[in-house]
Amino acid sequence: DPRLQDISNAIRVVPHFPKPGIMFQDITTLLLDHKAFKHTVDIFVDRYKDMNISVVAGVEARGFMFGPSIALAIGAKFVPLRKPKKLPGEVIAEAYELEYGRDCLEMHVGAVEAGERAIVIDDLVATGGTLSAAIRLLERVGAQVVECGSVIGLREIKVVKNPSTSFRKKKIGFI
Ligand code: 5GP
Repeated sequence: DPRLQDISNAIRVVPHFPKPGIMFQDITTLLLDHKAFKHTVDIFVDRYKDMNISVVAGVEARGFMFGPSIALAIGAKFVPLRKPKKLPGEVIAEAYELEYGRDCLEMHVGAVEAGERAIVIDDLVATGGTLSAAIRLLERVGAQVVECGSVIGLREIKVVKNPSTSFRKKKIGFI
């Protein structure tokens, strides 16, 4: 797909951020480039528009930068999956392992109904731990996670120590 080169060129790599040794993939420069940003959303929309998806779930924070545009274009609702204590209503929560420590994602109860077909959007997949937690949240309320999509897939993916069976079953796509 010729659009991929424009997208790749628009992502800035910042060495040693947020700590020494990390090559940070900065998608804020992609958002500044209208053509590349549109290509990114269009690729997801082309893929998901005819898959009968009613839920686009976005992972805080960078999944919020792509998910709502995709949801509007494919005629789905957008559901934010947030870090702890940000959502005001009743929530369900799923913890996941980080390189150092743990984090957690929360979703509003009632945002998604049993039987809905969902996709999960984030900017980047590394170990898949974050997306696995997102899948668990949606499956707990009876939704069907059709696929997870992210803009960037790190090639040198670290091995997940305890991959959830759910994650292994799903297709994790990235452009
Ligand atoms: P995983 O859970 O797959 O190991 O890590 C993915 C999560 O970490 C995503 O939510 C993503 O936003 C964040 N992340 C990790 N490294 C980077 C990076 O270099 N750039 C960006 N934009 N996000 C990152």
